[in-house]
Amino acid sequence: MAREAAAAGEPYDAYLARLTEVEVTARAATAVAARIRAAGFPVVKDLDTFDFTACPAVPKQKVLELARGEWVGQHANCCRIGGSGTGKTHLATAPGLARCRAGKRVRFTTAAGLVAQLEKAQQEHRLDRVPTALDRLDLLIVDELGYLSFRRAGAELLFRVFADRSERRSLLVTSDLPFGEWGTVFQGERMTAARLDRLTHQCQIFEMNGESYRFRESMKAKAGKDVKKAK
Ligand code: ADP
Ligand code: MG
Repeated sequence: MAREAAAAGEPYDAYLARLTEVEVTARAATAVAARIRAAGFPVVKDLDTFDFTACPAVPKQKVLELARGEWVGQHANCCRIGGSGTGKTHLATAPGLARCRAGKRVRFTTAAGLVAQLEKAQQEHRLDRVPTALDRLDLLIVDELGYLSFRRAGAELLFRVFADRSERRSLLVTSDLPFGEWGTVFQGERMTAARLDRLTHQCQIFEMNGESYRFRESMKAKAGKDVKKAK
């Protein structure tokens, strides 16, 4: 760039401004890539590959609005409920990516993975340090909250994380359980409906009903093959 500027007789301040711009852009891109890596998404999937026509139950406008991420700034929560293969993980990843690009700290984990991490920390007597790390996250995405993810003690640990974030930090949870049955995951003497209420307070809930996208796609592929065979 120095040689180019000299050859073109570019004034030094203009050259310096151009150089700075290139450096700033490169740093920003590196930072975004690092944030996406640190978030630990299972697959990097964005909204541009999500077919809204395949699942009319999902409100497209609402999803696009949530992708802008104002709710993360407001410390609100978000839940995606639906059967297997209905796009919950996909629609949990996309807003996470958007927040990474916007400079926010995000982490994607499964409920079982997070519980395992908390249990390990508890065994090693450093449970108090985990919330500090989680607290730094602007958005915590907890995928696959379900009946079989963990035992009672694990549920208590997980719930403590959820309660800690309440109205201070955002949470995005996906589950194949209908919302009314969440209480059964967090059953426990001290886990009352009132505590669950704190999680659902200020919460956007999407019910992703419908058949599995994966299943439908494989049926389509199979039908395609059958047609070829018939020919
Ligand atoms: P879930 O987490 O609900 O089990 P996923 O989000 O993992 O479902 O979706 C299963 C697969 O199908 C993924 O590869 C996902 O990208 C894809 N998928 C699901 N729904 C859609 C959709 N409406 N448009 C495009 N791809 C979809
Ligand atoms: Mg999933």
